[in-house]
Amino acid sequence: MIHLVGIGNPPLATLDSLSVRIARAFRESCHVRPESIDPGFAFDPVRGQYHATSLLRLLSEKAGDTRLVGVATVDLYVPIFTFVFGEAQLGGPAALISTFRLRQEYYGLPPDPDLLLERIAKEAMHELGHTHGLRHCHDWSCPMASTTAIERLDLKGQRFCETCRGKIAAAP
Ligand SMILES: [Zn+2]
Ligand SMILES: [Zn+2]
Repeated sequence: MIHLVGIGNPPLATLDSLSVRIARAFRESCHVRPESIDPGFAFDPVRGQYHATSLLRLLSEKAGDTRLVGVATVDLYVPIFTFVFGEAQLGGPAALISTFRLRQEYYGLPPDPDLLLERIAKEAMHELGHTHGLRHCHDWSCPMASTTAIERLDLKGQRFCETCRGKIAAAP
């Protein structure tokens, strides 16, 4: 079973729509947890961002017997990168995504709720794929392709390629 939990204050409607898309993509039930996580402990005042790995560790403690995906509204980093769209434990129980740089407003453009939800779904599918033991895919249209820029994320489709779909089905 997959659970979603808000980190910061993502709108409940966003989490609900995401849970429907995830359940469809992974053929598993997906529920939104009623609580939310305060990311304050992971804040780095020098960078003005939140440490992804610290949040991921907390999610992993809270996962129990679920796969737990944290959906954060704050900007995430790991020390070697300027930012990350998300992070996950390969074959582990926890995954994390940030909606911060998925918003058109971040790039000085008018808000686009449909595009935002599409990006959130692709990013969540990508990180959840890692929890199923999948590594990056060479098919640029597959959600498991590596993404370091928003333009690349928009090029991806919303369905896993056949190879990745097979690996997900075979994952424990
Ligand atoms: Zn990845
Ligand atoms: Zn693939």
